[in-house]
Formats: sequence, structure tokens, C-alpha cells
Amino acid sequence: MNQYYQKDLYAILGIEPDADEAQIKSAYRKQARRWHPDVNDNSQESILRFKEITEAYEVLTDEQRRSQYDILKGFNFKSSYSSTSKTQAKKAYSQSESAQTKTDFKPEQKTKTEEKHHDKSSFSQVFENILDGLFTNDSQKNSRTKTEKKKLKPENGRDINLNVTIKISEAISGTNRTVNVLHSERCPKCEGRRFINGAKCPLCKGSGEVSIHKKLNVKIPVGVKKGAKIRIANEGNKGYNGGKSGDLYLFIDIEESSFFKYEGNNVLCEIPITPFEAVLGANIEVPTLCGNVSMKIPPYTSTGQKFRLSQQGTSNGKNNKKGDQIVTVKIVVPKEMTAKEIELYEQLKLISKHNVRENLLND
Ligand SMILES: [Zn+2]
Repeated sequence: MNQYYQKDLYAILGIEPDADEAQIKSAYRKQARRWHPDVNDNSQESILRFKEITEAYEVLTDEQRRSQYDILKGFNFKSSYSSTSKTQAKKAYSQSESAQTKTDFKPEQKTKTEEKHHDKSSFSQVFENILDGLFTNDSQKNSRTKTEKKKLKPENGRDINLNVTIKISEAISGTNRTVNVLHSERCPKCEGRRFINGAKCPLCKGSGEVSIHKKLNVKIPVGVKKGAKIRIANEGNKGYNGGKSGDLYLFIDIEESSFFKYEGNNVLCEIPITPFEAVLGANIEVPTLCGNVSMKIPPYTSTGQKFRLSQQGTSNGKNNKKGDQIVTVKIVVPKEMTAKEIELYEQLKLISKHNVRENLLND
């Protein structure tokens, strides 16, 4: 909690208790220039110091609050800050005197309400009104805006290109993507001039531009092809002086998939099975575009046999009818087998009477 009644607001601004408004303002500007968080890379100390001097400035430029503060702190107002404030201060003094006898003047409560007021106003109102001319002096600012308005030409914003890699399944079914777009915008402090009063702009460090990250949710349409260029209007860099903003272009790349091939709305794949699964039949897991599904391999299945997984294909483009997944099986002999397995194959060889090659030329 920040109770300014406990602080020496004059010392904070480096002024005497009889300082007039011009002196307070000048002291504040001097301190603010030194402690502005932007100048100090937003260090914790500078934020606190800046808040403190801003609070001191606010209290001391509000005649009523200043006089109450002076009364509570016992400051003498020998040479007063202004003719009206002198009477204000006296009034406030007598008010507080009588109030104290009635015991309904509670400085602590007052502090609370004033703090609320401070929170609301310090970084918005005061910052905008008073600090507006902090880094440029008012006469410069005025002459600048006058000449600027006359001669500035519309400046269109640049386009931004962004690469987006999607999965093949997303390309086929369409998807939404949150993309992080890095905009560069004209520095709001120096307005792109890079220097302020001969010194590098503290906000953009003299580059004239600031980078702004923007998250955008974009729709990737159904059936998008590799290398497609999707335009999102007005999401490029900002235009100035009535110029148009640029556009955002998404360049679509599609992740390779060696497993799925596409034929119209059908998805094709080849799936390996073991020799005993081929002979005895099995229930195996087959990847589809929407996750694994179970597929039944019947006994006596050979390599090249095709099975159809209904409705597991895609709905490409305008045709909303979903295709199927066509699974071709391939018997694969494991690369390494145990002695026991080999022994069982040896036994199989001895008892088997089939010649799978007997009709090669007879059909
Ligand atoms: Zn700047």
C-alpha cells in the first residue's frame, strides 16, 4: 500500500515546500525524464520511482489535496504557491480543525480513496496530459504537427508473408490455425522519426519501428494444396496517413506422409502383416486420418489383398461425400527370429505339401 501522507512529496520531487505550480511541473518533468520506465527498460525501481513522482505531482498540483497534505505534515505555507491556494489551505486547515474535534476526519480513509483516484489516473490521464510533451517541447510539437498535416502522403503498409505447415489430414479436411504474426509498426513515441530532441528514441532505440506480436486465428480451407497462398486482407503492416494496411499471406506447406496416399476421396495405404496373421487371421490396428481403427484380417489372407474401411476417407472440396480407406496387406517376414521360431518353420516345411508355384504358366 502506498500512503503518500507518510512520505515527503516535496523531497520526492526535489523541491521546497513553497514551490509554485510551475516549479512543481518543471521538477516533475525533470524527474520523469530520468525515471520513466521506458528509459530504464521497465526496471522495477524505475516503475516504483515513476509512480512515486507521479503521485507526488498529482497531489501537489491539486490545491485541495496539497493543502490537506501540508496540514497533516505540518508544512508551513509562508510564501504560498498561489493566491487562491493560500485561502484554500486556510479553509482546509480550519475544516480539519473542526473536523478533528468531531472526530470524523479520518486521514487514513482519505488516503484510501485518494489512492484509488491515483491508480486510475496516474498512468492514463496524467501520462497522456502531462507527459505528452515530456520528450519533445510543446513549441516543437505544435510546429511539427502543423507542417506534418500538410505535407504527409499516404503510406501503404507492407504485406507480411508467413509459412504455415499443416498435416495432410488438415489439408484434406480443412482446419483452423492460430498464427503468430510479427508486425512492425511505426514507433508511437517518436512517430518513426528515430530521434527525439537529438537523442535516440528510448522506445524504439532509434530504429523508428516497434515490433508487435499479434495472434490471429485463420481458417485453412478444405482441400488446400501444397504451396497454396492464402490472403488475409488488412492483416499486414499498418498503413499511415490514410494509406492502406498490407495483407497477410499464408504459404501452405503440407507435411509429408509416406503412409497415406490419396485418390479422389479415398485414402490408400499398405499395411504389413506377419505370416501367421496371414494364415490364421487377426484383428489389427490400422491408422486412419481420424486415429486408429480395428480391422479384421480373415484367415488365408495373401499379400496384395485389399480391404475397405468404409467412410474413413476424406470429403474433398465441394463434394461432401466421404470416401473410404483402402487397405492393401503385405506379408512381412520379421528380420530376426528366435531359434524356436526357426525350428517351427522347419517343421512346417517338412509337413507342408503345397506348391504355390505349380500353376505359374498354366493360367
Ligand atoms: Zn521511436
